[in-house]
Amino acid sequence: MSQSEIISHQSKMHAPLFVLSGPSGVGKTTVVEEAIRAVRYPLRRAITATTRPPRPGEVDGRDYHFWSVERFEDALGRGEMLEHAVVFGRDYYGTPRAEVDPFRTAGVGVILVIDVQGAAQVRARYPDDHRSIFLLVPSLAELERRLRARGTEDEAKLARRLDTAGRELARAGEFADQVTNDTVPNAVRELTRIINDEFQARGYEPCSTS
Ligand code: 5GP
Repeated sequence: MSQSEIISHQSKMHAPLFVLSGPSGVGKTTVVEEAIRAVRYPLRRAITATTRPPRPGEVDGRDYHFWSVERFEDALGRGEMLEHAVVFGRDYYGTPRAEVDPFRTAGVGVILVIDVQGAAQVRARYPDDHRSIFLLVPSLAELERRLRARGTEDEAKLARRLDTAGRELARAGEFADQVTNDTVPNAVRELTRIINDEFQARGYEPCSTS
């Protein structure tokens, strides 16, 4: 088999894996959900697991798998997690393999919306088999404004999230692509373009639009 035949053969085995990181409050979920509707290929967001409590309105199995610490540690012990991290110094967050591998094998692309520590683990595990994107915020002042507007954190938690955000922004250069969420439509357009390009580069045919 020639090099290009091998690459083409391998790319047909797994639909693409995307990793999107960015500071808490930058709008990752909104941008990703809209991009999933806009892309011309089958794509889903992996529902990740966390030990933090649900926020009002969050639903188990839709927003996250809300697990106890015991359950999370059991899953880790059984090797069921693709990556995991302790985020904001207190809660476990991680991606169950079952949210990723079976879908990719079935031809459905998967996007992980995870923190920079998790993204680094995916990079180490799948160096040539994912596309990483960092969602930037126009400024830290704007991020603070968005986090306050969301109103889900008390002052101490807000301060911790802003502190983490500063350190995360410094690592944006580790990602293959950077997208600035200045406005949601702009960020969705750019993310959609990146995702469509990746599928196309792997030889996938776009879904027909009706
Ligand atoms: P939040 O508590 O605001 O829902 O999420 C906090 C941070 O954890 C966000 O940056 C989010 O992207 C990240 N996160 C969510 N799920 C995972 C995961 O499975 N693994 C890792 N490493 N980070 C995650």
